Amino acid sequence: MLETEVPEPSPRNRTTLLKLRARQCRYVTSDSGSEAIFCGGQTKEGSSWCPWHRQLVYTKPSSSGAKPGRGFIVPKLA
Ligand SMILES: [Zn+2]
Repeated sequence: MLETEVPEPSPRNRTTLLKLRARQCRYVTSDSGSEAIFCGGQTKEGSSWCPWHRQLVYTKPSSSGAKPGRGFIVPKLA
């Protein structure tokens, strides 16, 4: 288990593609509407995501036996 203290970005940072700036997290938090909503949290230089989403995207497979994740949660089909 990783015990990284990465704060979840505030929903208040969320923004749309048109308002998204460099150094803002590009993780799509919602695309249910007509336009995608991005996290908008502050990123570190050279990263497209805030630390919170970066760790989600780069989720490492836990030790042995686990398949490498793609970094996204795929809803299971019923
Ligand atoms: Zn983010």
